[in-house]
Amino acid sequence: MIIDLHIHTNLGSICSQLGPAELLDRARELGIDAICVTEHHSHRGAHKMVEFARGSGYPVFRGVEIYTELGDMLVYGMKRDTRYHLTTFEELLEMAEEDGAVIVPAHPCRGWGRQHKHAHNFPRELLGHVVAIETLNGANTVRSNEKALALAEEYGLPGTGGSDAHAIWQVGKCVTVFEREIAGEEELVEELRAGRFYAAYLEDLRAQGG
Ligand SMILES: [Zn+2]
Ligand SMILES: [Zn+2]
Repeated sequence: MIIDLHIHTNLGSICSQLGPAELLDRARELGIDAICVTEHHSHRGAHKMVEFARGSGYPVFRGVEIYTELGDMLVYGMKRDTRYHLTTFEELLEMAEEDGAVIVPAHPCRGWGRQHKHAHNFPRELLGHVVAIETLNGANTVRSNEKALALAEEYGLPGTGGSDAHAIWQVGKCVTVFEREIAGEEELVEELRAGRFYAAYLEDLRAQGG
């Protein structure tokens, strides 16, 4: 099952131009099996997207992307809305554990190789608290993704893929291929915890006939 695990829409991220109708159409057109909406800091946009897609038969899951001092974190399975809380990883971890949610560091090596203030290596304190690393991010350079892949290998963590789309042309560039069918958010969390997936560029999957 192919899922784009990292998408921003204009329902919840002011930085995104991507509207709900065009997102659904595009995801279908690309042959992706499901999408997961991950707005910044809050579930509200993702929740609206789920409402929008209700009745369409197309699966939409909710996640959230939260900025912490250890980098941006994708969180799947969080039950509460995080809108007015949170800045530290410690706080996020506590809430995620209470809610049974899983954490995946987003684009851990973005800016790698440049003298950029956001260039950072993977903070080792995250080990043991994250179920995977986002190794393929559609908004990253190939080099940053390669670095993230190397990190995941070094730490023995599986990699997820997501487009980090903020506009329609970016949707589905990178995806996560799950071994099993996923019908809901609890199953999504279960599969992420179990590590039964890998990251891919959609065009590579298509080139392989997938
Ligand atoms: Zn981010
Ligand atoms: Zn993002």
